[in-house]
Order: sequence, then C-alpha cells, then structure tokens
Amino acid sequence: MSDRDAAAESPVNPSIRRVSDWNADGLSDLAGEHDTPLYVQDLDRVRENCERLRDAFPDADIRYAVKAHTGRAVLKAVREAGLDAECASAGELDRALAAGFGGDRLHYTAVNPPARDLDYVVGVAEAEPDLTVTVGAVDTLDRLADRGYDGRVCVRVNPGVGAGHHEKVRTGGAAKFGVPYDRAAAVTRSAAERFEVVGIHAHAGSGIDPAQLDSHRELVARLGELARDLLSPAEGDAAPLDLEYVDVGGGFGVPYEEDEPPLDLPAVADATREAVAPLPAGVDLAIEPGRYVVADAGVLLTRVNTVKPTPDERVVGVDAGMTDLLRPAMYGAYHPIRNLGGADGAPAPDERDATPVTVAGPICETGDTFCNDRALADPMRGDLLAVGIAGAYGYEMANQYNSRPRPAEVAIDDGEAAIVRRRERMTDLTTVERTVEEEGR
Ligand SMILES: *Cc1c(COP(=O)(O)O)cnc(C)c1O
Repeated sequence: MSDRDAAAESPVNPSIRRVSDWNADGLSDLAGEHDTPLYVQDLDRVRENCERLRDAFPDADIRYAVKAHTGRAVLKAVREAGLDAECASAGELDRALAAGFGGDRLHYTAVNPPARDLDYVVGVAEAEPDLTVTVGAVDTLDRLADRGYDGRVCVRVNPGVGAGHHEKVRTGGAAKFGVPYDRAAAVTRSAAERFEVVGIHAHAGSGIDPAQLDSHRELVARLGELARDLLSPAEGDAAPLDLEYVDVGGGFGVPYEEDEPPLDLPAVADATREAVAPLPAGVDLAIEPGRYVVADAGVLLTRVNTVKPTPDERVVGVDAGMTDLLRPAMYGAYHPIRNLGGADGAPAPDERDATPVTVAGPICETGDTFCNDRALADPMRGDLLAVGIAGAYGYEMANQYNSRPRPAEVAIDDGEAAIVRRRERMTDLTTVERTVEEEGR
C-alpha cells in the first residue's frame, strides 16, 4: 500500500505516519530553536495510536509497555487515553506512579528482578494493593513470598513460539522469559496457594507483522488452552482458578521501511480473539503494545556537519549517533531518513538528485551508521535530516558512550511544541563522580 492509499483509507487516523507525512517547516523551526540532535514526540499521534488499539480491541485490557518510551509527557498522554502501564523495572514503576497511574492500572513484569527492585515493588504494593506482579520463574515467586508479598500475581509462560524481526528481540522461544509451557499449569496452581493468581501471560517478542501472524496465533492458542485448563481442570483433584485475564503480550509491528504496509490491526485483533476463544465470561483478553503506541509519533532530527566523497561512497556525517538512536547499530534496524534541507544557498531537497549515501554519526565505532548506500536527496553540509519512526526505543536506549550528553526532546501537544527533556550538559556526565568527591559516596 502506498502512503497515499493509507491516507485515503483513513484520513482521520491513518494506520501509519510516515516520515514524509511530518511538516518539514515545523520540524526545521524546532531544530532551529532547540538545536540538534533533537527528539520530537507528537502526543497527538500517540493518542491516535491508542485510539486505533481501542477500536481494534474494544473488550481487551490494553497495557502500554512503558519501556518503549517512558517520558513523563508520553506516560500522561497514555494514561489519559485510558491504557494501563506495564513496567519492566522498579524505575519504570516509579515513573509510571509519578505520571499518575494508580495501582489498579500498574503491572510489573519481573525478569530476573534484582533484590533492590523486588524490595521497592513490594513496598509499593503495600500502598497500592491492586498492583499486579507478573512472574516468570518459581524462584521469583519464592523471593516475593520471602518479602511477605501475597498479593496479585500473573504467571508468565514461555509458549515456545516467538515472533521478531531480529534474534535479540525474539523472546517467546528464549528460555530467559517465562515458565516452560509444560510446567506452567502446575506452577500456576501452586502459586495460587500463596498468592492471588489473576492471570497468565506470554510475550513473544517484537515484530508481529503479516508474515508472523501464524506464530502469534499459535502463541495465543496455547495460552487460551492453558487458561481453560486452569479455569476448569480436567484432572480430578485440581481446584479451578479464578483468572481475570489472559495477557498475550505486545509486539505489534510498525512498518519502518517506506514501502512496507502497515499492520492490519483489526485483522490481528480478529486472529487473536479467534485463537484465544472460547474464554468464559469475566475472563478478559489483555494486550501489551509498546512500540505500536509511540514509534511513528517520534522523529530524531540531526544536522549534517560533514560531507565526504570517497571513491566508494558519499559519507554524510551528522551530529546524532548510535548514542542517540541505538537500534541501527544494535539490531541492524532500518529507519527511514528524510532530508529536510536548509543548507545555505542550496536548492530545496525535492530539486536535488537522489544520491546513494552512508549516513554516519560522530562515535568512534564502525557500526555508528544510520544507513548505508541509501538514496537521499543529495545531503549537503547544514542540511537537517529527520530519522523517522524513532519514537519507540529511541531516547529510551540513548546513552553517554564517548562522553556524549543525551539529546533534548520536544513534545507536541494539541499542536503546540514544548521542550520536555532538556539537552544533557557536560556536567551531567560527571555528576556521579562529583558526588563521590563531594559527599564521599
Ligand atoms: C517489551 C515488552 C512488551 C512490548 O513490546 P513491543 O514490541 O514494544 O510491543 C510487552 N510486554 C513485555 C513483557 C515486554 O517485555
């Protein structure tokens, strides 16, 4: 499907916002005002994404996996849109609480949780008893019980099938995550003796796309089967459990490549409902989208500072690198790039020749490139580039390698842009050293 078709199909809330759909002048103004590299996150688009999820899954509990983007402004927008929060660490839980999520809308998914995290979470649960802890190992259940926790628990199951665009993001089949499927029923029943078991859960990793729909269906079907067994056991002496939900995780894919069609969300929803069925009345379906909520709501703006013709290729040096957006270096991920122009005296980008270029950042690593041999409107020194679909796992994975302060972020809310995270300063790099010198710790 072309951009134009997607827009025609649903002009009000299209299923994808491409980098070409952003307003070039607006982005150029923001870069002029706040400097680069700069993340821009459009909360209005975040709300649209929440709304499409609601429309496709009207009966499901929808939990935003906050690790995709934990900015306060995003968390508030998602909370106001009615989604719950799924947190993968104590730090994320802390930020979700600060953004106003109450315990009944908080889910903490422990993966080999550090003791410090468990202490914190159990403390929060005392004040917020409606919080749910999702657990993927018997050891973790024991560690919760050791801390006196007897509250709401959901058991994470490893269904043995996984989706994913890259080895490193495929979790369903990896032994790290969840209780092995063949032990799941027994572990869940025995957990119910110590905790209030409210659900079962699986997350297959990121990248449900049209080609992966079958493995999604299989995961959901396995969970549905397990749920039915727990709700009304076939074996004589097992007591039925009172589950509230079956959580089939996140991983809803987003088309990074310009010619990739967007996910047919209603079709995924139909396939999900069909595969999990039948669930008794009162048992809800739950989903945990992360990427889908925020990815196409964000771009990373970066300025061209060096253009170097070499015998093999044209290398375009920019002021953002893998420290600002790690996905290309870490996963070989594709991000669309658009030249917004702006170089002194240069023609508008659409009047320039498409030229194959490598776009490279300022980090001393060979992997520090955003694309190789990609045709862009011939970039010149001073141009502004927009790296698209950067709203998920973008700022979240930013780091200070090479002593690079992390970038600033602007949020657009109801069409108005405002800075929500200031650019880090050099002094931020050494704060943790200086406090040791000043305070001795
Ligand atoms: C990361 C994660 C998600 C969200 O994955 P996306 O691909 O961003 O949708 C959901 N659930 C769990 C448990 C996760 O770890």
